[in-house]
Amino acid sequence: MSATIAIVGAGLGGLALARVLHVNGINAVVYEREPSRGARGQGGMLDIHSGQRALREAGLIDQFYAIARGEGQDMRLLEPDGTLLLQEDTPDDAPLERPEVDRVDLRNLLLDSLPEDVVRWGHAFTSADNGVLHFADGSSATYDLLVGADGAQSRVRALLTDARPAHIGQHVVEVGIPDIDRTHPELAAMVGRGNYWVLGNGLSLAAQRNGDGRVRIGLSFYNTAEDWFATSGIPFDDPAAARVRLIELFAGWDSRFTALIAACDETVLPRSISAFPVGLTWPSTPGVTLLGDAAHLMPPVGQGANLALLDGALLGLALVAHPDDFPAAVKEYEREMFERTSAAARMSADMQELLMSPDASRKMLAFFQPG
Ligand SMILES: Cc1cc2nc3c(=O)[nH]c(=O)nc-3n(C[C@H](O)[C@H](O)[C@H](O)COP(=O)(O)OP(=O)(O)OC[C@H]3O[C@@H](n4cnc5c(N)ncnc54)[C@H](O)[C@@H]3O)c2cc1C
Repeated sequence: MSATIAIVGAGLGGLALARVLHVNGINAVVYEREPSRGARGQGGMLDIHSGQRALREAGLIDQFYAIARGEGQDMRLLEPDGTLLLQEDTPDDAPLERPEVDRVDLRNLLLDSLPEDVVRWGHAFTSADNGVLHFADGSSATYDLLVGADGAQSRVRALLTDARPAHIGQHVVEVGIPDIDRTHPELAAMVGRGNYWVLGNGLSLAAQRNGDGRVRIGLSFYNTAEDWFATSGIPFDDPAAARVRLIELFAGWDSRFTALIAACDETVLPRSISAFPVGLTWPSTPGVTLLGDAAHLMPPVGQGANLALLDGALLGLALVAHPDDFPAAVKEYEREMFERTSAAARMSADMQELLMSPDASRKMLAFFQPG
């Protein structure tokens, strides 16, 4: 009987690993706590750049290009008083260097590429000992290699390190405007086809058009204490009153920006942002490893999904190269992963520092137009 690879978490990283193993003739089982693929909204668009290599290794790059939105690469950068600092429109024939894709479409692409019984839904991992996984419903399963692909709040991580992500002084409130072309054509034209960023002092507004015609808007508050939501005065249980409070918090901003907030629907999602310090590692331990956010949660500046996909693909290739020696494969994977993701974490921390600084919009302009 061949050795059993158990992957905890059917996010992008866990599924990329399962797929790369599958195309190379190695079986794995993915345990996911959600009861089904549609159980939870997957939320928003992802810009996929370095992660394209993973999709190539997974044999899915052409299907990816078919669902990717090149025009989602468009970008507008503004100041709170309404000054347009930068506008980049993507030509129709531009290469798909950083296309946007709906997270749900990308996850479905990976799920549909696996045999039906690979993902075991409704299996919430609680602990592991002596080669046995335990789940919240009392069931258990055996493994030879356990891969924690269980995201930011990973439970598998405790088998390798005591480190926990810490609050990084950012709170985000996600709101959105459904069917914007029909409901608010003037705001639709203002936001455009891709990303629309307004960076202020201690505040930012990031709007993004999604494939389904919704514009998602992330309102960020920087240099905030961990309990800021409790003191912010935003009534999350009353969306209309929450919008009024959010508009107050953006006092002094151009009325076009507050009009965006006023046009939002009843979805008001609070997110407190945490990350690991740059360069988290752990001593290699036979039989267990981590990938994606479980291994290296970073500030949310567009790296996480790409790194998770790549981790999954590269761990898969290491296991394919050492099918009879999982500890050697894990060691090889972790050596490369620690180095690659530390570099990405350093870049993400620098970008986060820029976003949190006074004069963020001018610094961002200089980032896009150096010299
Ligand atoms: C609003 C937002 C926008 C983002 N935009 C971008 C972007 O544009 N580009 C980019 O690169 N990154 C982006 N990211 C980051 C990116 O989403 C994450 O880094 C990426 O999803 C990490 O993938 P993962 O597979 O490691 O974890 P996840 O996608 O979080 O998947 C983890 C899976 O594990 C499951 N799970 C958790 N605990 C258990 C358990 N105990 N038992 C079983 N299953 C469990 C979860 O249900 C989930 O399905 C964004 C993040 C957010 C929040």
